[in-house]
This record gives sequence, C-alpha cells and structure tokens, in this order.
Amino acid sequence: MNQNLPNTYQYIIAGGGMAGLSLAFYLNKSLLKNESILIIDRDVKQANDHTWCFWEQGNSPFEEIIYRKWKGLWFYGHQDFASFLNIEEYFYKMLRGEDFYQYLIPQLKKNPNITFLQADIEYIESTVDEATVMTNQGVFKAKAFVFDSIKVSKFNQAKYHNMLQHFKGWVIETSQAIFKPEEPTLFDFRIEQQNECRFVYVLPHSETKALIEFTIFSDNLLDEASYNDALKQYIQEILKIEDYQITEIESGVIPMSDEPQVISPSPKVIRIGTAGGYVKASTGYSFQRTQRFLQQLVQDLEEAKRKNIPLTFKGNFCSNTWKALLDSILLNVMLHKRMPADEIFTKLFKYNRPADVLKFLDEDTSMLKDISIMQSVPPFPFILGLKGVLLSKLY
Ligand SMILES: Cc1cc2nc3c(=O)[nH]c(=O)nc-3n(C[C@H](O)[C@H](O)[C@H](O)COP(=O)(O)OP(=O)(O)OC[C@H]3O[C@@H](n4cnc5c(N)ncnc54)[C@H](O)[C@@H]3O)c2cc1C
Repeated sequence: MNQNLPNTYQYIIAGGGMAGLSLAFYLNKSLLKNESILIIDRDVKQANDHTWCFWEQGNSPFEEIIYRKWKGLWFYGHQDFASFLNIEEYFYKMLRGEDFYQYLIPQLKKNPNITFLQADIEYIESTVDEATVMTNQGVFKAKAFVFDSIKVSKFNQAKYHNMLQHFKGWVIETSQAIFKPEEPTLFDFRIEQQNECRFVYVLPHSETKALIEFTIFSDNLLDEASYNDALKQYIQEILKIEDYQITEIESGVIPMSDEPQVISPSPKVIRIGTAGGYVKASTGYSFQRTQRFLQQLVQDLEEAKRKNIPLTFKGNFCSNTWKALLDSILLNVMLHKRMPADEIFTKLFKYNRPADVLKFLDEDTSMLKDISIMQSVPPFPFILGLKGVLLSKLY
C-alpha cells in the first residue's frame, strides 16, 4: 500500500500510455494546470513499445521529438501499380514511444500538482459526487473526473463490424547501405493476400536501418511463426536483403470496429484513447485523432471552469453519422470480402490526389468530396456494403 500519497485528487488519469500522457500534457498547458492530478499506470513507461506514425499539416505539439518525417511515400498496389506519392501539404511523421515518454514524463513531473503512481488498477467506480479507483497500492478518489484509458471494450457484439488490425514489426540493421532514408513505403501489397488485407510498410531510419512491419486487417490473429515467416520472406524476396540483424521488435492488435463506445459510463468517468473509441474504424489509426479529441476535451474542461458550470461534451469525439457510415461500409466490404482490399486502396490512391485521400481518411473532407473520392472504386461492392450495414442496423 502506498501510504505516502494523498488519496483524493481533482483528476485521476487511469493508464499513463499515449492517451493518458497526452491528456496530462494538454492539462499541464491549460488553465487547469494547478488542479491535482494522479496518473496511474502499471508500467514504468520508458521502453520503445510503440512507433506512432501519422500525417499532418504544419507542426505537431511533439514536433521537437518527431524522429523522422517525409514528404513522399511509396505505394505498391494491385496489378503492379507502383507510385511514389507526393503528399503535398502533409508530412508523414514517425514518433517513437521511447522519445514520447522521455519528453512528456519529466516535464509533467516538474509540476508539483501532478503525481505518478505505478500500480495495477483493479476497478473504477463512481457516484454522482466522486469516482473511486481501486488499485493494488490503495484506493484513490477523484472529485472531478477519472479519465479511463484502460477499459477497452471487447468489440464482440455480432451486429457490428469487428475486425482487427494486427501486426508485427522488426527494426533491422544491415551492413550495406540499402534503404533510401527519404523514401518510406506506406503500403506494399506485393505479398500473398490470402483473401485478407495484408501489406508491409517500411520506415527507414537511415541507409542501414529500417522498421519493417507486416500488417493484416482480418477477424483472426495468426500464430507467432506466421508473422515471423512473412517478415523473413518479405525481407528476402521483395527487399532482396540476405544479411541483417533484428535490433527491435514491436507487435500489436488494434480494434477496427463500428461498435459504439460508451464514452462516459458514469457522471465522473470519461473514457479516452482506444477505450474511448478514438481509433478510426476503417484504418486503425488513432494517434492524431487522440490529440485532436483531447485538445477539444481540455478546451471544454477549461470553459466549464471559466464559466463555473458542469462539463458538457460539446465536441462529439466520435465520427459524425456520415463519416461513421463510410467507415461501416468499408468494414463491411472488407469483412465480407466483397472486393479485395488491395484493389480498394490501389484505386483510392491511383485515381485521387494522395493528399486528398489522407484528408478523407482524416475525416476532413466534405460530403461532396467523399462522394467524388468513392467514385474511384467500383460501386457494386459498396452498394452491397451499404445494404449490409443498413440491414445490420435493423436487427
Ligand atoms: C505497437 C503499436 C503501434 C501502433 N502504431 C500506431 C501508429 O503508427 N499510428 C496510430 O495512429 N496508431 C497506432 N497504434 C494505435 C494507438 O495509437 C495505440 O494503441 C495507442 O497507444 C493507444 O493509446 P491508449 O492510451 O489508448 O493506449 P495505451 O498507449 O496502450 O495506454 C494504456 C495504458 O494503460 C496501462 N494499463 C492498462 N491496464 C492497466 C491496469 N489495469 N492498471 C494500470 N495500468 C494499466 C498500460 O500499461 C498503458 O500504459 C499503435 C498501437 C500499437 C499497439
């Protein structure tokens, strides 16, 4: 039991991973920086356990620690389509977990109102007056909110579209200069699709070092050997590299789902990050959405404090109905194999300005633009997808 800590705080952040630390970062820069905050995580966050990639225009709040950024991306698609995509107003950026933790945690620790606790959270419950977090180090109370990033849904309700993005990546080093540091690969579909969506991306750190990540969108995980075999095969047959050392390994499973998430299960608990449904259902990307949603959440909290009123969720943190429908249709098409995913992505990137596709995936395009982008794919599978989505909503 941790006897030295006070047991009541204004805010408790349950899970100090990407979303929890990002939220603390924005709170620490806001009107609310003098409120007491307890951040609880079971791990000491220092390992390079994630490589986050995302695209954006302009600077990131984490610009100082962006590890690499690129203006162009290779796309190897269906039927030998190959193109080095110029993403114009965007940069594709890579941020390493290790750098993120080393940058954020010390600056948060400088604020005497922010406390870190390494503990296992057993459960979170709340009344209208306060929320309680039970841990193996004691019981802690939040007067305003617990921000919960640990209670991730099972995403198993049959009436929704539930897929997984699962992947394994190796950072490899070679003795010869092989990679072009300015030329990462976003999608390489030149691998056996096995009636799923399978691709590899290659993110060079230097001429002799790169992250190679084998990724699948499907409803089932593979055994460990299959990820390793796919990586070996890609490195030998596509990259033509025989001699290399694996220096880092990362793997993960991200839900791709249109199952609605309960964002505030009780008056004093707000779910954030993957637990809050921040993952873009049809792509599995969530880093950039998390930053946007949490900045909005902190603005809403600031406004509530300024006006001395209860927090109202002004920002609907999830996709609007139209964008959510597009995600569901794409999930339906992939899940029911109405059209091979490598063909879908190839057509999207081949027949549209690549920056517009990125904008579309970011949900920054108008409905008219969305319809024009969707005209680059054959209508029939998507009409069937729409029908499937509408039928699933009836039952
Ligand atoms: C390897 C990997 C790479 C990814 N790459 C990208 C990418 O390139 N781009 C992108 O947009 N998205 C990416 N994602 C998806 C998403 O951005 C990440 O999963 C992101 O970390 C989600 O943030 P989060 O805060 O919701 O979860 P996490 O970062 O996982 O944080 C949750 C925290 O809660 C803690 N925790 C959990 N349970 C308990 C408990 N009971 N008690 C105490 N602590 C607990 C964990 O230790 C963890 O630190 C990636 C995901 C993975 C797994």
